[in-house]
Amino acid sequence: MNTLDQLEFDNRFARLGDTFSTRVQPQPIEQPRLVVASAAAMALLDLAPGEAERPEFAELCSGHKLWSTAEPRAMVYSGHQFGQYNPQLGDGRGLLLGEVVNAAGEHWDLHLKGAGYTPYSRMGDGRAVLRSSIREFLASEALAALGIPTTRALCVTASSTPVYRERTETAAMLLRLAPSHLRFGHFEFFYYSRQHDALRQLAEHALDCHFPECREQEQPFSALFRTVVERTAETIALWQAYGFCHGVMNTDNMSLLGLTFDYGPYAFLDDFDARHVCNHSDDSGRYSFENQVPIAHWNLSALGQALTPLVTVEHLRESLGLFLPRYQARYLELMRQRLGLRTAEGGDEVLVQRLLALMQQGGVDYNLFFRHLGEQPAAQSLQTLRADFVDLAGFDGWSTEFLARVARDGVDDEALRRARMHAVNPLYVLRNYLAQQAIAAAEQGDYRVVRELHAVLAHPFDQQPGMDRYAERPPEWGKHLEISCSS
Ligand code: AMP
Ligand code: MG
Ligand code: MG
Repeated sequence: MNTLDQLEFDNRFARLGDTFSTRVQPQPIEQPRLVVASAAAMALLDLAPGEAERPEFAELCSGHKLWSTAEPRAMVYSGHQFGQYNPQLGDGRGLLLGEVVNAAGEHWDLHLKGAGYTPYSRMGDGRAVLRSSIREFLASEALAALGIPTTRALCVTASSTPVYRERTETAAMLLRLAPSHLRFGHFEFFYYSRQHDALRQLAEHALDCHFPECREQEQPFSALFRTVVERTAETIALWQAYGFCHGVMNTDNMSLLGLTFDYGPYAFLDDFDARHVCNHSDDSGRYSFENQVPIAHWNLSALGQALTPLVTVEHLRESLGLFLPRYQARYLELMRQRLGLRTAEGGDEVLVQRLLALMQQGGVDYNLFFRHLGEQPAAQSLQTLRADFVDLAGFDGWSTEFLARVARDGVDDEALRRARMHAVNPLYVLRNYLAQQAIAAAEQGDYRVVRELHAVLAHPFDQQPGMDRYAERPPEWGKHLEISCSS
């Protein structure tokens, strides 16, 4: 175990030099106080949970102090935002403090979000508000607990520094961890600005640091792209299977490692709605729940375009072609698991599609449906769940088929089936209204709710005594919260 001041840095990205990032000092926020810390994220740095209680912790996580071997830098990147190329983005309010090496030899980027002005701040103030920092914290740790690839969040620090959005709010900082902060947009920047030597250098860096297995391949850059396609397909399959809506799938928010990256107006579906648009500013619904699959493919082609100086178009096309089949196979596998099925049959895809179509018509809570399906023997569960559906004849028809399918799957011990299903179907989901309640309390200086919600979501599959209120369906007001990009 490390104490905070014993963290060992090895700043590989900083060593790439000024073509890739700019040295910037964090601007501290006033009267910092720790809102919430993740013991699981701290463990990635070999930090004991008790370290969060030390005053230095809040000082380091609010820009007041810096590790002597940290080298804070703002990274430059660009990207496609809502389909339009923006030639100049970059870390406008976050800094890569450095890369910590843990006892297992893993490198973890420490990124301080909300650290003040950088050369890439454009019209922004370089700050993050408490509300959005809490949202990113909760989502990072909740997705990790669900087994969905994501950046992590070490902690949130609140302050008295005022920040102006639609109303006056206060600044906060989030300390984000990831094996890498490389985005699709990094490669787009060097491609479109015609710095192809730098593009190659960046791709070499990615291979050396993050894709060593691709180095061994005959065409390392081609293997790199293929791996990104595969990892993205995996993550999107998990989003779709668990009802996660990202909301701002711009290419600068796409992680080269396939991690869920940059949390803004995201949402987990409450009632199932394939066309749900969680980002209030997304008027055309470009990033609706069901569009996440074709958009991920679109984003991968944008990355492929940026890699054309390094990889042949044939190879890029071939790898891109893997995305949909990969996605579909993985998604179906996850949905079978969620339905408690162990075997695979040709008709499963249609069975899943019909269920979703029935859910779409009724007000069926997406995640609780699967949880409740595992609660009792299938026939009994279906009887209970029936009430939520609108097309009852359709649901009865589906139920009959599903029960026959369960029978063919092989009847096993009920307790085993229940355990198997509960292990993949969360009881606790990060619903927007729960986040909203935690934020409202935190804005009043009461951090108990956000800490409790985080603790519950750290074990989403395990029923926790006294925490029933987190497993309920949302109240009507809670289903219609408008969340925008302004964070
Ligand atoms: P996002 O919508 O969070 O993906 O951010 C898009 C771009 O805007 C990135 O370059 C961010 O660094 C930048 N940005 C977002 N919010 C701010 C802010 N408050 N101040 C400066 N830059 C920002
Ligand atoms: Mg972003
Ligand atoms: Mg953002």
